[in-house]
Amino acid sequence: MPAGLFPMSRFLHVVAVADAVSAAVKIAPATVVEMVPVEQSAGRVLAAPVVADTDIPGFDRSVVDGYAVRSLDTTGSGDASPSLLRSVGRVAMGTRDEKLVIRDSECAYIPTGGILPEGADAAVMVEYTEEAGDTILIKKPVSHGENVLLRDEDFRKGETVFLPGRRLTPQDAGVLAACGCAKVPVARKPVVGVISTGNELVPVTASPGPGQVRDANAPMLAAWLSEYGCIPRLYGIVRDEREAFEAVIASALPECDVVLLSGGSSKDDRDMTAGVIAGRGEVLIHGIAIAPGKPTIIGRIKEKPVFGLPGHPASAFVVLIAIVRPLLDTMLGQKKPLLRTVKATLRENIPSQRGREEYVRVRVEDGIATPLFGKSGLLNTLVKSDGLICIPAGYEGLEKGSTVEVILW
Ligand code: AMP
Ligand code: MG
Repeated sequence: MPAGLFPMSRFLHVVAVADAVSAAVKIAPATVVEMVPVEQSAGRVLAAPVVADTDIPGFDRSVVDGYAVRSLDTTGSGDASPSLLRSVGRVAMGTRDEKLVIRDSECAYIPTGGILPEGADAAVMVEYTEEAGDTILIKKPVSHGENVLLRDEDFRKGETVFLPGRRLTPQDAGVLAACGCAKVPVARKPVVGVISTGNELVPVTASPGPGQVRDANAPMLAAWLSEYGCIPRLYGIVRDEREAFEAVIASALPECDVVLLSGGSSKDDRDMTAGVIAGRGEVLIHGIAIAPGKPTIIGRIKEKPVFGLPGHPASAFVVLIAIVRPLLDTMLGQKKPLLRTVKATLRENIPSQRGREEYVRVRVEDGIATPLFGKSGLLNTLVKSDGLICIPAGYEGLEKGSTVEVILW
């Protein structure tokens, strides 16, 4: 909603969370792709499909240490009636011995991962064999293909192994390497500017004087952003003065993809954020039907998204997760949000106001979620809780005993 439509109003014109999220997603800058070495790819979001450049494995191979055999030669063998096979050689790792061929009643020693020699179709574990000179006693039958990984059984040449949008894991890095992907196309990490505003704020290194509080938001927002795969850029504390806001935004914009300001996002005379964004660009939304977090601004200056987050740390954090995160997901091309959730049973009723999406901090123990009600300005519930539950806007609360999904911190 353009701010100009409500020039005289001292009230926020709130929009539904879904509308705020789609407004945020719509202004997300396009994904920028960069190549990173495969060993640095874990945690990054894949930006293009990855195809296996070869069959994996590229040859039939044993998955045990033992003897490569023709399975029919082992039929009926047991402790008391072993099959007697003639050993005709040993399989060496990492090379194919064209001359090593297994014929009827023959076998060859094979280490785990060794190439299955021609003629053999299975491997017998060494534990079920006994050596007597050149004769090997086989005490357990194997069937065709037993203890063998077939060529291309893992991945086939040309097969799409990963689709874009996947947040890569360390295991993925291993598979990427096996597929010949030395440099991985990933989304560049969004650079997110973090600005704290308020005359009462002092940095963490200062002892707060009367009426002062330490800046908790910048370290909290930056820490979350780093964990989420972004690069936070801190711009310190800004006083509630228009010139100071103008100056910090002017320096942050060219250096960042997204800018987050916390504090000063409401409609008090001291609240500068909306006016400064409107002066340099446009305010798209001012007020969201979310609790905590109602006084939130979504704006844009020169194609860059600029958010005004509420000052209360808990509110800023909820808005970060509920509103800013979907924009970051879009920039990263990430299909599934990187949120850990757990289902739990609610220990007590939680009342909620219909018409706004409400986020309640809860502690989770043994599958039971206990809401932590507290004054909105308190910090301690952020750390005493394990996560948040969301009460959708259409609900008047949640009943004791209902199953809830907890977004874990
Ligand atoms: P505001 O949104 O600016 O009206 O601030 C709301 C409340 O949040 C006030 O009590 C502020 O002191 C507090 N607050 C604002 N910014 C921060 C911050 N960076 N760290 C801790 N508290 C803050
Ligand atoms: Mg303030």
